Amino acid sequence: MFVENSLRRALKRMRLFPDTPLMVAVSGGKDSLVVWDLLRRLGYSTRGLHINLGIGEFSRYSSEAVANFAEARDLSWSEYPLKESFGFTMPEIQRAFREKICSLCGKLKRHFFNKHATDEGFGVLVTGHNLDDEASRLLGNLIGNRQRFVRKQYPLLRSPHPAMPAKAKPLFRLEDEEIGIYATLAGIDVLQTVCPFAADATSHAHKRALDLLEAEMPGQKRKFYFSYMRENGRRENLEDTSGFGRCEYCGAASREPVCGVCKLYARVEEWYRKRELPLNQ
Ligand code: SF4
Repeated sequence: MFVENSLRRALKRMRLFPDTPLMVAVSGGKDSLVVWDLLRRLGYSTRGLHINLGIGEFSRYSSEAVANFAEARDLSWSEYPLKESFGFTMPEIQRAFREKICSLCGKLKRHFFNKHATDEGFGVLVTGHNLDDEASRLLGNLIGNRQRFVRKQYPLLRSPHPAMPAKAKPLFRLEDEEIGIYATLAGIDVLQTVCPFAADATSHAHKRALDLLEAEMPGQKRKFYFSYMRENGRRENLEDTSGFGRCEYCGAASREPVCGVCKLYARVEEWYRKRELPLNQ
């Protein structure tokens, strides 16, 4: 099957073989469940990792989608509520910082995926990012001239620090639609609920822009992403690993004495304290 072959080829090029235990970041959406399903079919030893963001019904349904998927296939997984790991849910953070909630959510997910994966002893974290995700992210980074993030677009990033696992995105050759078809044919019940904060995600606007281009000139999305990758294909080994220490509060890998997530916690806590609002709601 095309989708399975694409994943097999990507994993082979990444030199990730079935004897490497893989932690899979799972949201309950189609991409993460499809990559988990494919890895299982190819004989990889996997464990799911789900972060419950505390976003009301959306998070409840996300968690249920992961639990149902894992139970039906006898797969192991862990769930970590953000409230317990960080001290606040996403809606509580959103109350303090109305803007850029998705970028804060992304920052928190990256931080806690790193932490929980390494705490559980995994050296590689797999995510379900697909071609549409990567092309739209590339477009956003190029528009904002965020070269630091552009350099991290390679589908395999080696671990730069013991507290950060390697990151692999083996679905990077596959489009949204191809993954959706696979999910339907494989009988995967994916999360149907949309996050109430999704309207704030700028990546959706970049995706729509690329879809528009694709409708006018088929093949442009793939060409845009892969022409960049051809130019930068060896950057996996050029990730800047210098200057990393550990956050003096949480021990995460950080180039500053205090990591971005601990600074964010202090800002949210201060917002609640100033208004004399209870910290644990
Ligand atoms: Fe997080 Fe934004 Fe995605 Fe909601 S839409 S889960 S807030 S990144």
